[in-house]
Amino acid sequence: MSGQVVSLELGADPALVARTLAAHGQWVRRLSEGDRGQPLLLLEPHSRQISDGELAGIPGVATVFRPTSPHPLVDAQPREVVIAGVPVGGTAPPVLVAGPCAVESAAQIDELAGRSAAMGARLLRGGAWKPRTSPYAFGGHGAEALGWLRLAGERHGLGVVTEAMSVEHVGLVAEVADLIQIGSRNMQNYPLLRAVGGAGKPVLLKRGAAATVEEWLLAAEHCLYHGAPSVIFCERGVRGFDPASRNLFDLGAVALLRHALGLLVMADPSHASGRRDLVVPLGKAALAAGAMGLLVEVHDHPELALSDGPQALDPSLLGEFGIGGRP
Ligand code: PEP
Ligand code: MN
Repeated sequence: MSGQVVSLELGADPALVARTLAAHGQWVRRLSEGDRGQPLLLLEPHSRQISDGELAGIPGVATVFRPTSPHPLVDAQPREVVIAGVPVGGTAPPVLVAGPCAVESAAQIDELAGRSAAMGARLLRGGAWKPRTSPYAFGGHGAEALGWLRLAGERHGLGVVTEAMSVEHVGLVAEVADLIQIGSRNMQNYPLLRAVGGAGKPVLLKRGAAATVEEWLLAAEHCLYHGAPSVIFCERGVRGFDPASRNLFDLGAVALLRHALGLLVMADPSHASGRRDLVVPLGKAALAAGAMGLLVEVHDHPELALSDGPQALDPSLLGEFGIGGRP
């Protein structure tokens, strides 16, 4: 048997107990604290087999238990994180994340960053590499766009959220991003989850278009297992049977993650609907369901946008969500 979690006595030094456990053949991972503030240590399943009795005899160990959940790191996630100085979750107000689908030019991202910040956005989104269904569609300006994004974020006081689409670009993305996005199409790309986790940055994990909630949680477990400090889930709609809207916005999942599982969750009404006229009402609905933030695509000339123009809002409409701004 292995995979136990040990709860330490209040006041025990977790580093010291971890060293003692290592001397007993245990690979130890620190979890966030238990409900009374007591430190928790997970003994990795590939550690030497050790009985609960032997563990209980180690100084500093208070209790030993075995998580029954397949995603103990997700379960132990904090209820609030801070991204680029912006609190998300807990009692923090909902966060507005805005920006274009793709970073199209230095001037475009600077303009949209400025206008979004003025409407209360705290984080700037924008893709440097775009996952496109058609090989003929615009695939992003790549590394150059990351530089434009970083400058725009710095100039307007916004943290940066951008997608890592392939393992080879994770290092570059991690240099710029405060929150690394994993796109819907890549939610189960395990080498990418591993690489992004290893970058040590918080992750925004979009839900796969046909992923169950359990698969989504396990994808997050991969990121955390490989080193991500936290994962914010992002509901962006799943594949439905009706093409009337781009996707089927699963607000039940938003409520479940926030209220039943106590996880960090945002929502993306832009990709969920694919239509600008539905983005505001769906965004409000997501907030009512418990979303801790909204990811909204904006563009100053949607008819000229290189991707996702039909769902882009003019930044002047960002105030309609009733969130955003500096506390
Ligand atoms: C995006 O955020 O621009 C995007 C491509 O989203 P998704 O992965 O949810 O389709
Ligand atoms: Mn898009």
